[in-house]
Formats: sequence, C-alpha cells, structure tokens
Amino acid sequence: MTAPVARGATLQLRHTGLRLLLRRWGNEAQALHTEAQWWAADILRARQWGWLQDILRAAWDTDEFYATRMAQSGPPPLDPARFRRIPPLTRRDLADQLRRTAAARRGGLTRTSGGSGGAAVSIPLDRETYAWYVAGTWRGFQWWGVEPGDPVALLLGRSQVSPVHALLARAKDRVINWHRFPVDPAFDDRAVGIIRAMERLRPALLYGYPSAVHRLVRAIRTEGLRLRARPKVVVLTGEPLYVFQRQALAETFGCPVVEEYGSGELGSVAFECPHGALHVTAENVYLETVPAESGGDRVLATQLRNRLAPLLRYEIGDIGVIDAESCACGRGLPTLRVLGRDRDRLERAGSRSLARPLVERFLGALPEALHGRVRIVHPAAGVLVVEVEAAPDAAERLGRLVEAARETFNAAWRIEVRPVKRFDRLPSGKLPYFALGAQVST
Ligand SMILES: [Zn+2]
Repeated sequence: MTAPVARGATLQLRHTGLRLLLRRWGNEAQALHTEAQWWAADILRARQWGWLQDILRAAWDTDEFYATRMAQSGPPPLDPARFRRIPPLTRRDLADQLRRTAAARRGGLTRTSGGSGGAAVSIPLDRETYAWYVAGTWRGFQWWGVEPGDPVALLLGRSQVSPVHALLARAKDRVINWHRFPVDPAFDDRAVGIIRAMERLRPALLYGYPSAVHRLVRAIRTEGLRLRARPKVVVLTGEPLYVFQRQALAETFGCPVVEEYGSGELGSVAFECPHGALHVTAENVYLETVPAESGGDRVLATQLRNRLAPLLRYEIGDIGVIDAESCACGRGLPTLRVLGRDRDRLERAGSRSLARPLVERFLGALPEALHGRVRIVHPAAGVLVVEVEAAPDAAERLGRLVEAARETFNAAWRIEVRPVKRFDRLPSGKLPYFALGAQVST
C-alpha cells in the first residue's frame, strides 16, 4: 500500500470508528438534534413541553424523592404555574439524595461534576441517556465544520465539565483521532511541549478550558512558535470565558473562538452558533429563571432525558437571561446569556453585586503582558486583593495595575496588590481569575 492510500485508509477507519461509536449510542438523539434546531421556535417549545411532561411523569412514578418534592404541584401533566411549585433543587439536595440511593443502583455510567459550585456530585447515566448528553456538543462541533475523523486536541482536566469525557473514557483515541493533553497542576510547565505536539497533530478542533488554551497562546507568543495548520475552531468550556482570552486566541490561532456551556450533571446545555448566540440544547435541557436573592435571575435546568436520576429545576449556580428572540442563524433554539456565578458577589456596605462584569472590565483594562497573570481575590466585605504573578516584564506595569483597579472599583474599596510566585491550578485543572476568601499561591 502506498503512503497516501494508507493514510486514506486510516482516516476512513477513524471516521467510521467515531460514527459507529456515536450511532451505537444515540441514533435517536443525533437525529433529533440535527432536525429540531431548524423547527420554528413555537413548535420546538411545544415539543419541549411534552418532553418535560415525560420526565416529570418518570420522576413521579419511580422516584420517591420527587414524589415528595412534587407534593405541592401534584401529579403530571403540569401546567407552567404548577410546574413552578416544584422546589428548586440545590447541588447539596442532590448530593444528599444520591448518597441515599447509591446502594440501590446497579452499573451504568456516572458523571462527576467539577464541584466548583459546591459539593461534588456523581450522576448515574445509562448509555442511552449518555447519547443525549453528548449530542448537543457534537452538533455544536458540526456547526463549525468539524467532522468525525478530524484530529482533535483536548485540553480538559479531571473535572468532568463536558459530555465528551465519558465518550473518551470508552473510545480508543487512536481510532477516533482525539488527543488528550490533560490539564493538571503541571500543565503550565508543559505548555511548550504541548505546542510542539500540536504542530505534528494539526488539530481541526481545540477543545478545552479557556485558561489552559490561553496559556498555550502565551507560550506561542513568548517562544516565537506557531501552529502550521490553522484549526477550524477553538471551543472553550468549563470556566468563564473572558474577552481578553477570546481576543488573544482568535488572533493567535486565526480561527473562530466559541463557547460551550455544559455541566457534568446536565450534559450539553448551550453552544455558540456562527452568529455569536449561545443556543440552548433544548432537546436535552429545559431552562428557566427565577429571581435571585441578591439581584438578577438564577438559571434552573430540568434534564429532559435522564430517567435514572431525574434533575428537576436544578440550580446551575449561574445568573443569566434566557431569550426567545430569533437568531440570524435561523435556529429556533432559545438563547442564553450567562452573567456570572451567583455566589461570586462583590460585597460592600451591605450591597452584593455580581463580580463577573467588574472582573471582566478590570482584566480587560490590563496591558497584554499581564493577561492571565492577574486575578482578584475578595477575602472580606469592602476588600479586594489583586494578585499578580511574577513575570519578567510585569514589575514596570504594576503601576498600571493599580490604576486599572482604581478605574474599575470605586474609591470606597480597599485595594491591595500582592505579588505571588505563580498561580496554581485547582486539582480539577481549572484556574479561576476571581476567588472568594484567602487564596493560597506559591
Ligand atoms: Zn444562532
């Protein structure tokens, strides 16, 4: 066999390998995700309300926990007003319930959430349900031209923020052509080696945490490296995506940089379309909002497919806005805007405002050399600590740092600047640029 023929055969094998894997797990899920995105919004809404009744019925019939929680709403079918009488489910409620029922369950997959929103939880999934969890992610990749068999570089940590984790656990990378670069506490030290490995891989898709991919950009820029082949898209998930990261990635990789919103408990929740809207995976989750105590609206999600462990009105932990207005891309899927984590609030003089918008503005005002090297810690009411990682040319920019902090946060804040040797990633591999309480850095 000549080299091009052998290469063609390998590609064919990879293509077939991934297709078979996806098909075996989810013909129905794949087909519906392909079709339903183009339904008119009102038709989709009506169908989704039907799927919601199915999962409510399954929860009511088989789950004592929910039968109790649904005492106020009564048995399904439920109209919207009665549905809203089901009390929202916190992650702590869910963790307690799963512990109680763990002994009764046999086999199946489990998905562990990152625990960034509180207690870590493991959700039991069967394979059929898993297909629904992954279908939205896969559809999102296809919106950006990624095909089965394309080389993919994964930069994810231990926290299972994406539905593809379980797919990877069962697939042989060499068959499906996906390559993992684990994001762990030592990831940042390996950045240059990872870039060199990627030069050989020529990935069509980079999929990972924003902080990890941004770290590669820093290595590319400081070491004068470059990727020979331009990826089709960079998809970011698992951490808040800041504007400075999006811009640096788009410039460096020369391709679209988009966001996926998902969680270990729920699977794919939303994916960004070519017109910049974060479209809800309406075939997999039903989203709604309720007023938050400290302002804004909390996003609640009802998982529509997991009968093994129903999640009804589950608190994602984010403040957001759900919009039904049509998108220029023509998809009838509703859209979501995430405004920030509910618990990440800036507290001063009795008021509690969302940290995300101000942290975004502050980080965006910094010179490029400080991007990814600065974070905000909020240890007590009225106090902000700006941590700055040592960098060869950072010292002269410290003045600009204080200036940017003063421009963003008003004079009533006590602002301290604390140089640190380096930022350590969490065991999950994530690297938050905003933290409550004292932060330990070495
Ligand atoms: Zn769209």
